[in-house]
Amino acid sequence: MTTTDNGLATRLTVTVWPGLTPRLLRVSDGAEIEDHVAYVQSGGYQALDDPDALLEEVDRSGLLGRGGAAFPLAVKLRTVRDAGRAGIPTVVLANGEEGEPASVKDKWLLRNRPHLVLDGVRLAARIVGADQAYVYVSDTHAVHALTTALDSAPSDDLAVRVVAVEPGYVAGEETAAVRAVNGGPAKPTDKPPRPFEEGIGKRPTLVGNVETLANLPFILRHGSDAFRARGTSASPGTFLATVTGGGKPPALYELPHGTPVTELLEQHQVPADGLKGVLMGGYFAGLLNREVLDATLDHESMRRLNSGLGCGAVSLITDDCPVAIAASVMAYFDRENADQCGSCFNGTAAMSAVTSALRDGAAAQDDLTRLERWSVVLRGRGACATLDAATNVAASLLRAFPTDVARHLAGDCDACRADAYKALRPYEVEAVS
Ligand code: SF4
Repeated sequence: MTTTDNGLATRLTVTVWPGLTPRLLRVSDGAEIEDHVAYVQSGGYQALDDPDALLEEVDRSGLLGRGGAAFPLAVKLRTVRDAGRAGIPTVVLANGEEGEPASVKDKWLLRNRPHLVLDGVRLAARIVGADQAYVYVSDTHAVHALTTALDSAPSDDLAVRVVAVEPGYVAGEETAAVRAVNGGPAKPTDKPPRPFEEGIGKRPTLVGNVETLANLPFILRHGSDAFRARGTSASPGTFLATVTGGGKPPALYELPHGTPVTELLEQHQVPADGLKGVLMGGYFAGLLNREVLDATLDHESMRRLNSGLGCGAVSLITDDCPVAIAASVMAYFDRENADQCGSCFNGTAAMSAVTSALRDGAAAQDDLTRLERWSVVLRGRGACATLDAATNVAASLLRAFPTDVARHLAGDCDACRADAYKALRPYEVEAVS
């Protein structure tokens, strides 16, 4: 177990799961960013003779996107590759704009293992036949690490540019990323067209989360069977989990999909007895109560609970009030939505007002009836997933914490009466300068 100390994530503990040979994390004895020599010595930048064969391996590996949507990478790769073969030049966009305040895994990869990310970008570009690639980030430390790494990375006739934007919750959405690289604001656009149909410079564009792409060198070196040796059949491989809350400093783990939540608690030294629930998938997938103790960390288990693994962030709720957490997250969405879709900026404002009133003991039953209705009818009404995230938080609060909700209706929460929890960005891992 090592605590990184490169001035980038000063309080973050980085831990490889016991018994796991890490694929993504590299726990070193201090601050150093992995350089080209160290990366090559670890087996990186291997020659790729047959991009189509690698695509077949990616397909067999079952690699799912790690940015939140868990979409099969092979499907995206094949679609963009085929568009390229039809004569339209293709592009790769590695998305490292990690807008989730409760997640730090992409920043860690970019800051500490920039060559691993660039190797993944190189392999994706070879598969889809792209001669241009972009790495899209907001973190200034990541920009520095990437630009330094690019000086020594093999070019493979691939032009790679780092594009930096202002950080924001919606800036990492894939259409926002494409729009920003095209010179516009980092705000989502309506779909279709999706980036794989018409993206950067109107070309078919492979948009992949940086953690997703960082798995490609492992698949090239070891193959799909080795990739599937950890994880579950429906959620193969390992993933990076940012764990916050629970009265402990934040930690970044690489762990296999399918790991029981109780094992994560044990590793993070948070007693299961004291767990009220979790906020899953960053701010996206909503709240779970103690039912999460029977779950495993994979897509299928989370879906059974009407939740999601999202970007892999898990925030442990022990001392804080779940109603107050929901109110803070909802207020965040009200501030951070891109102000583009009427249903979103009106809907997040209205749901935020109700959850705040509930926290403050000022809500009535009619307000909750409206909140429940909005959590259903507003779903899918925004150009991006922000409004869905807000509806997830509203619906899950009402479903998972009915006793807490009733107590707040009666104005009977001591912690909230004492203003105990009004975080602007709940479970934020660190302030990124
Ligand atoms: S859904 Fe909300 S956050 Fe997304 S584009 Fe529309 S207004 Fe912006």
